[in-house]
Formats: sequence, C-alpha cells, structure tokens
Amino acid sequence: MGAQVSIKKCQDYSYDQVYRAVKEGVDLLGGMGSFVSTGERVLLKPNFLVGRSPEKCVNTHPAVVKAVAQLVLETGARPMIGDSPQMGSALKVAEKCGVAEAARELGIEIVEFEPVDVKHPQGKCFKQFTVGKVVLEADKIINLPKLKTHGLTFLTLAVKNVFGCIPGIRKAQWHVRTAHKGSAYFSQMLLDLYTLVNPVLSITDGIVAMQGKGPGFGDPHDLGLIISGTDALAVDAVITAVLGLPPKRFPTLKVALNEHYDTARLSSVNVLGEPIDKVTAHDFHFPPEITEMKGLIKSILGFLKGPLTTHPCIDTKLCRQCNNCVEACPLHCISAGEGGFAINSKECIQCLCCMEVCPHGAVDLREGALLKLFKHQKK
Ligand code: SF4
Ligand code: SF4
Repeated sequence: MGAQVSIKKCQDYSYDQVYRAVKEGVDLLGGMGSFVSTGERVLLKPNFLVGRSPEKCVNTHPAVVKAVAQLVLETGARPMIGDSPQMGSALKVAEKCGVAEAARELGIEIVEFEPVDVKHPQGKCFKQFTVGKVVLEADKIINLPKLKTHGLTFLTLAVKNVFGCIPGIRKAQWHVRTAHKGSAYFSQMLLDLYTLVNPVLSITDGIVAMQGKGPGFGDPHDLGLIISGTDALAVDAVITAVLGLPPKRFPTLKVALNEHYDTARLSSVNVLGEPIDKVTAHDFHFPPEITEMKGLIKSILGFLKGPLTTHPCIDTKLCRQCNNCVEACPLHCISAGEGGFAINSKECIQCLCCMEVCPHGAVDLREGALLKLFKHQKK
C-alpha cells in the first residue's frame, strides 16, 4: 500500500469544526492511536514564522494546533508544542499568534529548540545537521504546516515545515551553504532533513491558506481544507494537485521526483476523503518564480546578476528601519544609507531571510531590467 493522504473540508476556524475535520482526517489514516501511544512525548511542530495574529494566516492556526494536541491527549500521550522562528523565541511567537493561549487551556508546554549536532548517515547529500534537542528527544513528531506561498521555495508545505527544526538564525547558514548550486540544492537539503526528522504525521492547515506574497505578507485564500498524511512528500504532492500546480513547478517535488522518492508521485498516493477534483482551487495566486544565476553562468555573467535575476528590494516608504533584515542577512549585504536601507544585489544569494523577518512587508521581489526585457520579448 502506498502513502495515504486524507482531505477533509473545514469551512472556518470555529473549534468544533476544526476538531471534527482534524479527527476525521486522522481517523481515515487509522486514528491517532495508531501513531502515538500512552505515555509518549509527542512534539507538535507548527509553522511559527513571526508573531502575528491568526487572521494574517502567517502561522499554523491555534485551533488546528489545539485540535491535534487534544487528539494526542486523548490517546494518553504527552504533547508539547515547539518550533524555532528565525528571530525571537517560540513562546513569543506563540503568544502573538494565539497558540500559547490554546496550550494553556490544555495544560501543555511550549518548548524552545536548544541546538544539538546530529549525524544523518542516510542523508543523500547532507549527513550532519544541527537541530533542536527536543526534536531528537521526542518519541514522536507531528508536523503541522501552514499552506502558504513562499518567494524562495514557491510554496511552503509539509516538507519545508521541518526546516523550523533547525534553531533560529542557523537556518540562514543553510542558505549560504547551498546557494552556489541554486535552489534545487536547498530542496535537496530539505529532503535530507525531512528524512532525519521523520514525523509520523503531517496535518496541514489549509483552511485559510496564504497566497501571493508569502511567506509573511501574502493574502488569505479560503481553501477550506485540512490535508493530512503519513508521508510529508505525499501530502505536498496532493496539495500541489489541489492548487492545480504541475509538480515540476514546485522545486521540492521536482527534486524529489528526480531523486526517485516514490511518495512524491501523485499516482502512488492513496487519497482518502474528498476527491482532489472536487476541491481543486482554480484561482490561487502563486508568487513570482525566482530567477537565479549559478555555476558557470554566474562566474561569467556575475556582473549582470542584478539586471538578470529576480531579487529582493526594500521599499523605503514601508521600511521603518527596525534592523531585523540586517541582523538576519547571512551575507551582511543590507546596509543603511542616505536614502534608507538597501540591498547589494551583487552579494545577495536570494535566500529571502530578509523578507521573512521584515515585520512591515517592506521587502519585495523585483525582476531585474534585463530579465523583464527578455520575458517581454518571449511573449
Ligand atoms: S539581502 Fe535578503 S535575500 Fe539577500 S542574502 Fe541578505 S537576507 Fe538573503
Ligand atoms: S526588516 Fe523591514 S522594516 Fe526593518 S529595516 Fe529591514 S526592510 Fe526595514
């Protein structure tokens, strides 16, 4: 039997509805009791990007986290909630996005990720990671992604959500380590990290998804779905189909298909609950595809990088000079000048950490002048 993924409809975030949809979705996969056992410590890993209120759809909604925590409690297991945002603590983000209140209601703990090194001999390309200690100590991990767009990875779904297991600003170093081979190499790292973290379930909050300018300042899209599965790649394959996106346009799936990960193929997935064609979104807005320069082309045409690629720019009218992006940039290529904060596009590796941490939506993606011209001529 291939990987199983369930799709359940859920119109809004009223708790009873969410609990029912999550429970029915997990029941289709065998029930929570088949994934966690009495007494086990279960880490629930939501997406905690930055501290914003739930209606901004930036983080996994508190009702979804609470419903999963309640199901885990009902099995007699011991849930805890943890993630590592790029900046600040998990608790701070949890307070702002409503998850801390849900955790208090159920009497469960929010945990921080203390860094610890771990070897991963099974990794195809990357055999060593630094992850949160609790990620290794937990008996089971349940992955709780938010269905969102992302300027760098196009979408951030179940596989990408495990990137939060790397503590805080250390995430940025992975962008530096993988940048010379382009975004496909970053996806390869995500796949290796996923096989290390190995969550027993991925339950996706796709009730109100984020479209457009993700991951921090996109627009809400009422998708009305909870999508759950035992295999995060299979979950990503199903979500991509629901959004009507060819898998080859989603870098993580493209790399996984090239690397022969079986569960990345939709045909190998057993879809339960709602059929995909009954819940397909026809009007979901994707972010612009990032155009990058790598390898030989970069060494020869590096001086044209700015005009030939898609790169982040700071809108000085929106920028409040909080310095977050400067602190987050692993290449130190953001500086304050007379005209305000600016990015040196020659140095930039397009990791978009600056976009993730900007609390004012002042970082946007822009196409270079030559790239625009080529695209125009192609049309
Ligand atoms: S400017 Fe932004 S996208 Fe470029 S390297 Fe720095 S953080 Fe990454
Ligand atoms: S994070 Fe945003 S608001 Fe803060 S300095 Fe950078 S661009 Fe400006």
